[in-house]
Amino acid sequence: MKNWVVVGCVLLALGACGGGRDKAAGEKSGVRKLMTKAFSDSDVPEGGGLCGDPYLVGEVVGNVPGRISGCGLENAVRLQSVAGIELSQTATINCETAKALKDWVQTGAQPAVGKQGGGLSGLRVVAHYACRTRNNQPGAKISEHGRGKAIDIAAVQLADGSEISVLNDWGKGKKGKALGKMHAAACGPFGTVLGPNSDRHHKDHFHFDTANHRGGSYCR
Ligand SMILES: [Zn+2]
Repeated sequence: MKNWVVVGCVLLALGACGGGRDKAAGEKSGVRKLMTKAFSDSDVPEGGGLCGDPYLVGEVVGNVPGRISGCGLENAVRLQSVAGIELSQTATINCETAKALKDWVQTGAQPAVGKQGGGLSGLRVVAHYACRTRNNQPGAKISEHGRGKAIDIAAVQLADGSEISVLNDWGKGKKGKALGKMHAAACGPFGTVLGPNSDRHHKDHFHFDTANHRGGSYCR
């Protein structure tokens, strides 16, 4: 019965299940109440719909002007969670990057963590939008962070309160294996993936961005 309700709800998703818009009609029939319950039982997070994606939760920011030429972005969002996984701080990024992060969480991070520590619960975000040059080097090109296309993640947080951190666990044991899988899985959803094997600036975090490279993703 429950599966049937979920399927029916997905088919009707843009109508009756999409939010509060059909409240009056739903209340009359009593159907909406049942469907809402079926939905909250699934992994579709409450309050989703940012960037038109039910798995993205956060708020629209709009235009972010750059402090210097080459920085800034239009249609920015402040992302709070992806697919039910909380960000340790909200991330100001564009929708393309938010969706790439969701793809990575669902197809990379969650499977890589598996049941370790009770499963994935959060991402420790250490950088998102910042108007700066690459690696803060004077005279270097504007970083993808300055365009809202990048996010840096230092660790994934587990349900039992522990974490798997790039700095402490890269290349070590079971947690290191999970990090290796997560790094590899980011290559595809993201255009650039940098970790401890790339350079000294990335010993303690993964850098993910949605820059377009000729010849596919750049992953080190
Ligand atoms: Zn970065």
